[in-house]
Amino acid sequence: MASTEVQTDGHIEVITGSMFSGKTEELIRRIERAEIAGQDVKVFKPSIDDRYSEEEVGSHNGSKWKAYVVDQDEDIDSVFSNLEADVIAIDEANFFDKSLVERCQQLADGGKRVIVSGIDQTFRGEPFEPVPSLMASAEYIDKLRAICTECGKPATKNQRLINGEPAHADAPTVDVGGKEKYQARCRHCHEVKTG
Ligand SMILES: [Zn+2]
Repeated sequence: MASTEVQTDGHIEVITGSMFSGKTEELIRRIERAEIAGQDVKVFKPSIDDRYSEEEVGSHNGSKWKAYVVDQDEDIDSVFSNLEADVIAIDEANFFDKSLVERCQQLADGGKRVIVSGIDQTFRGEPFEPVPSLMASAEYIDKLRAICTECGKPATKNQRLINGEPAHADAPTVDVGGKEKYQARCRHCHEVKTG
């Protein structure tokens, strides 16, 4: 991933892929490298359960990073305006609305290195905004793959399960959960109930 270590006058990097593909680990790896180089790094994540506090971006391998939690009702403009940072990292970007795309463009235009991590597909396998639009705007994209829990091949899909059964296509798009509700699957093993 040498391309993303290039220093520029402002750009957008997107780290995407399915759940369990290591996106947050990769985000943390990049922000650790930037901090070692003495760069000022600020990390943001969305509030997905109505809390408003400083929290941590954590990955399954134990790495952690203190993050500013952006509340659902908070004006993203005010959060990102006059940011004093060289590097701005945003985890779980799929929980932000589409206004994140314009904000990231402004930050990159203003000279910031913007690193965004998030899933690019819904549990139905459809594009999940705002990440696909961020990918279109980005200079660098890395799409990571997990391993399909059914067949062991590279996985890019988020399999939602309800009581162990594939979720119906009519289910709400956002349903926050972990391994109890989701599996990484390849396109051939990914199932969405219809009818
Ligand atoms: Zn599979």
